Amino acid sequence: MEVLRSILSCFSSRSRSRTRAQSHALWSSGASDKNKSMVEQLQRYGIIRSSKVAEVMEAVDRGLFVPPGGSPYFDSPMLIGYNATISAPHMHAACLELLEKNLQPGMRALDVGSGTGYLTACIALMVGSEGRAVGVEHIPELVATSIENIKKSAAAPQLNDGSLSIHIADGREGWPELAPYDAIHVGAAAPQIPEALIEQLKPGGRMVIPVGTMFQELKVVDKKLDGTVCIRDETSVRYVPLTSKEAQLHAN
Ligand code: SAH
Repeated sequence: MEVLRSILSCFSSRSRSRTRAQSHALWSSGASDKNKSMVEQLQRYGIIRSSKVAEVMEAVDRGLFVPPGGSPYFDSPMLIGYNATISAPHMHAACLELLEKNLQPGMRALDVGSGTGYLTACIALMVGSEGRAVGVEHIPELVATSIENIKKSAAAPQLNDGSLSIHIADGREGWPELAPYDAIHVGAAAPQIPEALIEQLKPGGRMVIPVGTMFQELKVVDKKLDGTVCIRDETSVRYVPLTSKEAQLHAN
């Protein structure tokens, strides 16, 4: 409660143009049928501005993470089973951009709702072998598949050297064993920001988390060096819920 009491809602700066852009597919033809051209499209649309984000998204082939029959380079979420989706490329890119300063080499990052493992792999390349990338996902089958996916990807060496790991757990509790984190990404929408995640954010750390049920906002949560927490809305989004395993599996 102490932590929540110190939350300051500093400002609410919504980027209207990006809100519009991100609520629709940015391209819809087969033009982006390869990973590299997908990244180039994201750069052209101004979603990717950082050369480091472009580099890691080029290095990690999204095609390894989308189940057979899907269109990995199409700018849309794709079903991955268990009532879950892999987020659209522009959302992954936008979240990496928002977290970039907190994903420097040697830093520690948590990916809650790691699903296919795609973003965890990108995060691992950002923080490097001296850093730590931790994925938490509550569906054991998705964790098993994500590890197989990562083994085929550019992030495979980091699974071996221990700087990248994926765990079966309820992400609403974070992963306290390796806290505090410089960066936390949450890939599913919480009704409210889980207090455990705020606690596990390092002073100077940043969390990006979709919040809401029917209407959701992507929130950027910054913990200042003095421990105060500042929250702003980045854009309107639509994510699957951050919920219990039972509620997710029986959603339909
Ligand atoms: N970011 C991932 C997955 C996004 S879908 C990707 O792009 O591949 C959201 C994921 O969150 C799903 O895999 C879902 O199973 C998971 N999830 C939902 N609630 C969770 C919880 N309480 N704990 C851990 N994972 C959760």
